[in-house]
Amino acid sequence: MNEALPLKGFTKCAACGTPMTGYINRKKKIYYYRCQKKGCNCNINANAMKRAFEEQLKSRSIDSKYIEPLKKQLALTFSYMNKKNELNRLSIQKRLAEIKGKIDKIESRFVTGDINKELYEKHTARFKEEEGQIRDELGKVDFRLSNLDKYINFSVNFSGNLCKIWLSGDYICKQKLQGIVYPEGMIYSKQEGKYLTTRTNYILAEMLRLSDGLKRNENGLILESINPSASVGPVGLEPTTNGL
Ligand SMILES: [Zn+2]
Repeated sequence: MNEALPLKGFTKCAACGTPMTGYINRKKKIYYYRCQKKGCNCNINANAMKRAFEEQLKSRSIDSKYIEPLKKQLALTFSYMNKKNELNRLSIQKRLAEIKGKIDKIESRFVTGDINKELYEKHTARFKEEEGQIRDELGKVDFRLSNLDKYINFSVNFSGNLCKIWLSGDYICKQKLQGIVYPEGMIYSKQEGKYLTTRTNYILAEMLRLSDGLKRNENGLILESINPSASVGPVGLEPTTNGL
């Protein structure tokens, strides 16, 4: 674990695909990354690679101008996709209003002397129990929705500050972020002096696509779904990664 070499292991050599390791040239006091394959002779100045990686992160970051619009967009996208959930919530709320109405009614019948105390208590107990059950159901639905907000906030803030978070983090944090953003690692081309395009975290890619859509569509939000697999639970990009 060397703070100066967070990209080792994560970065693969473009010439042979072998993960790179790192070392220091003690005379020059300069860090290098090196391909681990014998005879590949691929050495890269650690600072040059760091800058190249920063460029990569910047290119995958959401423009700060679109952070807030994107939060709205994602909320819309998810609520569009969660329409069923939303309908479910409405029907639960309707049932809750009904049971409250029944409780009010039984109370006024008791007050006016229509029913006796025994009947009043019997019915009230039953209705209150039902009310509790409905509130539990509503709690479950609302819990999901409030978590969704938290999730959207976290993911958008995270994807808008990739480079900043990476630069300010320690070795562990840097490696974590690298793994989240580029689950398959990355390939560095010595010839081109830059990282080659690799698959990005799915939800990050979808967020970038949506923010591009917002750029093109200055009039407002876009009503469209993203790939359902993203709604199931984007692996690795949850508020639990807050430890970063
Ligand atoms: Zn190599």
